[in-house]
Amino acid sequence: MEKKYRAELTGVFGDPVDGNPTGVMEEAAYDALGLNFRYITMKVTKEDFPDAMKAVRALHMKGVNLTMPHKITVLKYLDELSEAARIIGAVNTILVREDGSLFGENTDGKGFVQALANAGESLTDKNVVILGAGGASRAVSVECALAGARKITVINRTQEKAAELAELIRANTPARSEALAWEPCVRIPEDTDILINATSIGLAPQSDRKPDIDYSSIREGCVVTDVVFNPSDTLFLQEAAARGAKCINGLGMLACQGALNFTLWTGEKAPLDIMEAKLREEFA
Ligand code: NDP
Repeated sequence: MEKKYRAELTGVFGDPVDGNPTGVMEEAAYDALGLNFRYITMKVTKEDFPDAMKAVRALHMKGVNLTMPHKITVLKYLDELSEAARIIGAVNTILVREDGSLFGENTDGKGFVQALANAGESLTDKNVVILGAGGASRAVSVECALAGARKITVINRTQEKAAELAELIRANTPARSEALAWEPCVRIPEDTDILINATSIGLAPQSDRKPDIDYSSIREGCVVTDVVFNPSDTLFLQEAAARGAKCINGLGMLACQGALNFTLWTGEKAPLDIMEAKLREEFA
């Protein structure tokens, strides 16, 4: 067989990006399948982003992840968007197609839905309450709505952002949606099936913090999830578990979105167990 010394290049552009753990799980997956792919974590400032996008083509990269502050800026460089990426208005994954065109996808919310399914939970006809209205919340709530949720209730500190996200869901998906004010110690509505923390509250090093909600209003059996993955066992999840909730942490979502990227770029089924184990090892 002819030897091939050139590797297929993938990676992430962001600033700050030093603490981004995606590379370790993607490289572990490439190794596991013996693929000649590399994943490079690259600091790209806002000012340098146009040059970095030229490099995607010049270096014949296979694909790129985008993180802060590039997820929205990237839109104008892309040839085609997935339906979810168009609705969300942000892209975290680019696929460079054979003809050189750039396809934009948002795998954050799809990873969340996949992690829920892997835990045996469906979204069909479910009432979902989501805390937060930033990038993660937009991606997760839109995908929950596209996956069949009956109603999405958005609760956010800045109420205009909650109202704007609720309107986005109403206008673009079959789900009902509403925005609730985040009063101190806000009660979670009784008919909630799935409660999601999609704020950054509880993220290390501030892992001693938790969203200001009335934890006694979480009913037994409610599915409670957190997008925060470091630490994976957040105070929010600990409080919910103490009320008899079924808890799902943010590591599964991170691994699942990594697995979706992997498949998009390589065309292969991702070794999800290996990717998740690598992340656990990383945050141990
Ligand atoms: P954004 O900055 O876009 O949004 C942050 C959200 O948190 C906003 O809704 C903000 O409210 C809210 N918030 C922050 N601090 C407070 C506070 N003290 N009180 C109340 N609300 C607060 O961040 P992202 O959406 O991009 O990221 C959020 C989290 O999601 C991060 O921890 C990130 O690591 C995680 N994440 C996890 C992924 C995974 O795969 N598990 C994937 C992507 C992200 P306001 O609008 O009022 O400012």
